[in-house]
Amino acid sequence: MGWEHVSTGDVLRAARRAGTELGRKAQAFMDSGELVPDSVILDLVRDHLKGVPPEAGILLDGFPRTTAQAEGLESVLEAVSRRVDRVVVFQASDDELVKRLAGRRSCPECGAVFNVHFTPSSVEGKCDRCEGKLVQRADDEAETVRRRLVVYGEQTEPLIEWYRRSGARVVPVDAGAPVDEVHKAFRKAVER
Ligand code: AMP
Repeated sequence: MGWEHVSTGDVLRAARRAGTELGRKAQAFMDSGELVPDSVILDLVRDHLKGVPPEAGILLDGFPRTTAQAEGLESVLEAVSRRVDRVVVFQASDDELVKRLAGRRSCPECGAVFNVHFTPSSVEGKCDRCEGKLVQRADDEAETVRRRLVVYGEQTEPLIEWYRRSGARVVPVDAGAPVDEVHKAFRKAVER
């Protein structure tokens, strides 16, 4: 779609791999399934949005996750005469999410992602694309995934109502459906 894709989780993981100060700040929060402090996340997003051309669409992925982040985002966007136009909520049961996340394996070399239940690599533990050794994200261990779901319910879910009240179009997507259907529903949700 040619949009700028800002995934705060991806940016944080890249910072950790590069060993930067941001990565060091985020590490303990991420590994225990807690949220990284709002001020750290808002600085990161502000930085990433600075260079985006005014005509380009922006997809914010995994952000905002708290009311404070949503309020911070309002002022960041206001400064560049933009606003949140669509909010897509991916919905799936907790059991399904635990299965998906705890089964996820990724390749630190090339970034390819597999899943032991749904899309396993041809040789267990080995990347099909570059033969790198597949790893499980520390925060994808089943117990940490459950903690992430509790944090989601407490801190992120209330944002759905927050955005409804603010007048943004909130579009639920059934994320329990097969990949191609979720993809189609997402494209429809963000259509202009
Ligand atoms: P994700 O890849 O989006 O699931 O993010 C992985 C982890 O990074 C989360 O569990 C948090 O510890 C941290 N993180 C990512 N995005 C945010 C955010 N918007 N606010 C706070 N923490 C975040």
